[in-house]
Amino acid sequence: MLVATASISLLGLAAAHMGCSGHNIAKRNVGGENNVIYGKRQVDNANLDVTAQCTPYTYAPMANSKAKYPGIWVQPATLVPGDSEAAALFATINATVQQKVPNSNSPHGTLKGDWAGVNYPAGDADCWWTNSRCTTPAESLGIPADITNLPEPETWGLGFDDGPNCSHNALYNFLAENNQKATMFFIGSNVIDWPVQAIRARDDGHHICVHTWSHPYMTALTNEQVFAELYYTRQVIKEVIGVTPTCWRPPFGDVDNRVRLIAAGLNLTNVLWKNDTFDWSVGTNNVTAADVTNNYQKIITAAGQGQYATQGLTVLNHEINNFTMQEFIEQYPNIKGAFKHIVPIAAAMNWTHPYVEQNYTFQDFNEYVAGAPASGAASSGGASAAGSGTATGSAASASASKASTKGSGAGATRPAAGILAVAIAATALLL
Ligand SMILES: [Zn+2]
Repeated sequence: MLVATASISLLGLAAAHMGCSGHNIAKRNVGGENNVIYGKRQVDNANLDVTAQCTPYTYAPMANSKAKYPGIWVQPATLVPGDSEAAALFATINATVQQKVPNSNSPHGTLKGDWAGVNYPAGDADCWWTNSRCTTPAESLGIPADITNLPEPETWGLGFDDGPNCSHNALYNFLAENNQKATMFFIGSNVIDWPVQAIRARDDGHHICVHTWSHPYMTALTNEQVFAELYYTRQVIKEVIGVTPTCWRPPFGDVDNRVRLIAAGLNLTNVLWKNDTFDWSVGTNNVTAADVTNNYQKIITAAGQGQYATQGLTVLNHEINNFTMQEFIEQYPNIKGAFKHIVPIAAAMNWTHPYVEQNYTFQDFNEYVAGAPASGAASSGGASAAGSGTATGSAASASASKASTKGSGAGATRPAAGILAVAIAATALLL
């Protein structure tokens, strides 16, 4: 079959990119018009066939837009020549950075995370997370601490990095069936490759944040490159999805004060994580699926022992591949059994207007947990709250967007356990 053969070929050609904590990323996320397959596709959120979901397609609203952006998956992003608006904003932000951290020891290392020969001074004046897990910049800088813990106890802050994954319908259907919202940290290159998948996140009421354009170690970049990685991801999310995020997550958690200041200049709050499921690491260094399950269990056990009795936590999950998505689906009942609440970051932080566009209103924590199924309740599809609109943006504005091509997600079938397993096997060959 032509499509299947071609798709396998594409997967084989996919460039390896490193994920949030040191993993290869986006194996099946190669797509868009860089590839040989073109053609319109009917959008069908109920389609769980991985090959069909990941067949590149043209997307008319973006047909003339790519020249405005850096190269897809080209590391690192840089200012696009002739983009005077971006250049002017960068100049303004850069002036602040130069004034506030003139003696920074950053950049350092390589964009692949090699710090050989880097001699970083003791004292950690740059609050470099990778070096010291520092999350609290000096107060004099006027920027907030990174978000790791959450104010509400016994609460799992749910987020997925590295999307949109072209084959994420099974996960998104599962979340919809459970009336579960999440925060999606989107990669700009993936958004431009898979715009329909990106739009689904908005239509499903998820909360969208920035996760850079090409997923480099951010502290290795120049100020201009840091700006470009964040700015163009924010821009493409605005153009494709219609919302302008106000939060971001650094790949690998690699952030310091210089990078934080540039992000703050773009009105992006840094959402890190407290715990990592290491779901991304399967296939590297002999890490197995059972190891990841054990990582989930450790967090769940800690919750049972009262570790989160006074505050909640952000947890690092991924939609990077079909294993990470399926593993979350399988662990979800266990998480629900151990935590009182599973909420998107917007709800956890009471960000009722998490986008620049004020017509999108999200639920605050109390509203969210009141509308979500009770803790420990059977996952019956969340029918009692499904009609409330919950965290979706203004229906009118969402529907009016030219980018909205959402198909009917109603009646989507629950993913069978075997569906994603097939994809895992295919992906594993590429790790
Ligand atoms: Zn990542």
